[in-house]
Amino acid sequence: MLQSPDASDFRPTPDNKPMPLAEARARIVEAITPIRDCERIPLHAALHRVLGESVVSRINVPGADNSSMDGYGYAAADIAADGDALEIVGESLAGHPYAGSLGAGQCIRIMTGAVVPPGVDTVVMQENTQASGAQLVIEQRPKAGSNIRLAGEDIAAGATVLAAGCYLRPADIAILASVGVSEVAVVRRPRVAFFSTGDELRPIDGPIEPGEIYDSNRHGLAALLAELGMQGIDLGVVGDSPEALRGAFEQAAEYDAVVTSGGVSVGAADFVLDVLGEQGEVDFWRVAIKPGKPLAFGTLGNARFFGLPGNPVSTAVTFIQLVRPALVRMAGGHPALPIRLDLPTLADLRKSPGRENFLRARLVTTDAGRLAVEPIDHQGSGVMRSMSSADCFIVLPAPQQDVPAGEMVTVEPFAQTLWGHPAG
Ligand code: AMP
Ligand code: MG
Repeated sequence: MLQSPDASDFRPTPDNKPMPLAEARARIVEAITPIRDCERIPLHAALHRVLGESVVSRINVPGADNSSMDGYGYAAADIAADGDALEIVGESLAGHPYAGSLGAGQCIRIMTGAVVPPGVDTVVMQENTQASGAQLVIEQRPKAGSNIRLAGEDIAAGATVLAAGCYLRPADIAILASVGVSEVAVVRRPRVAFFSTGDELRPIDGPIEPGEIYDSNRHGLAALLAELGMQGIDLGVVGDSPEALRGAFEQAAEYDAVVTSGGVSVGAADFVLDVLGEQGEVDFWRVAIKPGKPLAFGTLGNARFFGLPGNPVSTAVTFIQLVRPALVRMAGGHPALPIRLDLPTLADLRKSPGRENFLRARLVTTDAGRLAVEPIDHQGSGVMRSMSSADCFIVLPAPQQDVPAGEMVTVEPFAQTLWGHPAG
């Protein structure tokens, strides 16, 4: 277990140094117990689920030797030289195999995917032949054995097709279908409760007065969870009082994980850490990143607890960096290491030494056709626009100082590039 002996006595003090991100991530991921419960569901519903049991093929794929070309099948020993001729005795189409077997000097017309009958060991592509009536001249012989896909070449009967823990992508659905699997055992989805904290927060479908703000984080969190295919349970907005938090924590404790936003700093209205210490256990508090320093990780009843900071960009960055890998593991999957690229920055970067920085940025292609990175102009941790218009982070290590334009920096893409950003 990760809990240090004094974890339940945890009190934030100036000595609790913010933890380096890599250490925090490793510690969190290690503390997660993957869900083992499975459910059987139809294959067509299994996209983006995690396979709960390995799938072993009952069959060979392909099931029989078959042609990879439209052409003619024959025995290579029957052809001594280019220009030799054979007698065409029939045809084999996909789904309609040739019923007989071939004798000396004979060939059949054969189509892609059609079964190769006994007596055929080679297929010549149609373009390299000349047919007239029942006679076929082979103008250019392929090597013996060419253009035949062997039975079991793709998947052999008895082989593991996909291992437990595999996150199912479209190609995986196709491969499972190719071995005749119509139902799969997948891991139950984690149930993740989430709520936001703050007396200033108002629902998004009503008016706001000066000093109030719309509760945007709760909707952002719901979307981040939905993107992971998780079942998010929305526990609403909780006020800035220990009593209100106690009630919410009690409700949240039965889920697999709890994600909260706000109230986890050292302000006069920040009680999340205190109540977590009372009702659960604090594992650690504060991570040495910007944005996103005040973050609490711990246990609350049955649930792993992630108390994220309330500044909207901090909420999103800490979710991506720390909560996402934890939930992937909880879901029975394997958190992927972030992809990191070294690219030149197109603008100067401001940085004071101390914390690892995650600047929001965009990947761009320069006029010279090279990939580069351009920081978003406004980097405030409350400026959600910086996150919304970004597709990557520029990651600057803790000791780093200002970086002039043109220098190479580490870039971590966090959004897939299939859906581009509208220009401007
Ligand atoms: P806190 O982490 O509670 O100290 O909040 C830090 C900043 O984030 C404050 O300006 C809050 O008003 C803002 N904030 C906190 N929660 C939310 C939320 N759910 N949606 C939008 N902004 C928030
Ligand atoms: Mg607050």
